[in-house]
Amino acid sequence: MPERRFRSTSVRKVHRRVPGSRTVLRYERRKPSRAKCGKCSQPLPGIPRERPYRVHGLAHTQKRPSRPFGGTLCSECMRQEMRRRARSA
Ligand SMILES: [Zn+2]
Repeated sequence: MPERRFRSTSVRKVHRRVPGSRTVLRYERRKPSRAKCGKCSQPLPGIPRERPYRVHGLAHTQKRPSRPFGGTLCSECMRQEMRRRARSA
């Protein structure tokens, strides 16, 4: 029986190859849900679906698209928002 803390459904089993070509059973937290667009709530492409400690290791450019509202709005909603702002200004 696994330890009590590993019996949670938020923890998953992973088989990891370790040095010596042994495979051992490890436990890790599940991946978070996909980042969603703030306007249409579609899943955002180009956003890593990883836990923060893994995202911290990534390069700045791998974390979100490098455009206005990148990582917040999808490209279509970003375009709409830019048009809306240009018209109201
Ligand atoms: Zn959107």
